[in-house]
Amino acid sequence: MRNSAGFTTIFGRNLIGELPNFVHQPYLVVTMPDLWEMFARHFDENLAGPYFVHTIDGDELREELAKLPPCRSIIGVGGGQALDVAKYFAWSLQLPLFQAPTSMSVNAAFGHRAGLRFQGNVRYVCWAAPEAVYVDFDVIQNAPPVVNRSGICEILCYYTAHADWRYASERGKCEVKWPYDEALVEEAQGVMATVMDALDDIRAVNEKGIRTLMQANRWGGAAFHNAGWNPRHIEGADHFLFYALEYYTGKKFIHGQPVCLGIYVGSLLHDDKAQEMLDAIVRAGVDIRPEAMDITWDDVSHALLNMREFVRQAGLWYGIYHEAEIDQAFADIVRANVEAAYEGVTL
Ligand SMILES: [Zn+2]
Repeated sequence: MRNSAGFTTIFGRNLIGELPNFVHQPYLVVTMPDLWEMFARHFDENLAGPYFVHTIDGDELREELAKLPPCRSIIGVGGGQALDVAKYFAWSLQLPLFQAPTSMSVNAAFGHRAGLRFQGNVRYVCWAAPEAVYVDFDVIQNAPPVVNRSGICEILCYYTAHADWRYASERGKCEVKWPYDEALVEEAQGVMATVMDALDDIRAVNEKGIRTLMQANRWGGAAFHNAGWNPRHIEGADHFLFYALEYYTGKKFIHGQPVCLGIYVGSLLHDDKAQEMLDAIVRAGVDIRPEAMDITWDDVSHALLNMREFVRQAGLWYGIYHEAEIDQAFADIVRANVEAAYEGVTL
């Protein structure tokens, strides 16, 4: 029997307000300044302090450890960065960890390792299993819709991941440690189907949408570990385009927008249900047009034309970008199709 266990996850209301009544005291809240304004009122005299995340650089964070006030538990409140830094502190100090994601943007709350940067490159380090993850409906519904909806990227990306895995396998290019595994693919497909069936609820960020997407993220967050540190069934060309856009433009993104663009481009390259994936992205209310990410079509073209070199240089696992010879004509098709998909659509 395959292990697909995820972290204990609790749905409800007033979940942040309840934390001071049971976490080990004094407690440190790891968060962002703008979020602290909203949530500070929930914490009492046992607060060791708020810690505001200002870096996810692994070496800088090691130095931050010495400056932390004495505390007996860590509470992460926020998105990917706050939750990842909370993991790092809990791991370094061997303290109990409680996580409260404030949006559905990424699956960080549900993964064991933290995506820190070392000399600018992402590395997944440390190990932290929280006592529980608290998903508060009111808190999630208070986040910007674009941030919540774009969280579908963490699940729809399974589609391009599987296409890449098959592609590599058929060419004998699959990593020896990660041979193609149909059972893993089927399990991920089952999770993705729940999200595809709930796109309207996710767009509306209603309770059903939140439960569906967060349960899917709960599975996906733990899947890397559960599959023996194998990411093949959960990530591929989808995220690779995002990494390239980040690398070439130097911009900060709402994770789900460039990843969803990557899902469309990846499925188009694989010639595998591309229109269906694009329709799903539009239906969920995620805008993948470059202007919505504060970049241009030229930036997208530049990344696409360089993908072959980028994935090889970055040492990413083998997929369609390792071979596809992308020209400007293909980039133009991507642009035309994406623009057509949003014509007359109100987001
Ligand atoms: Zn992601």
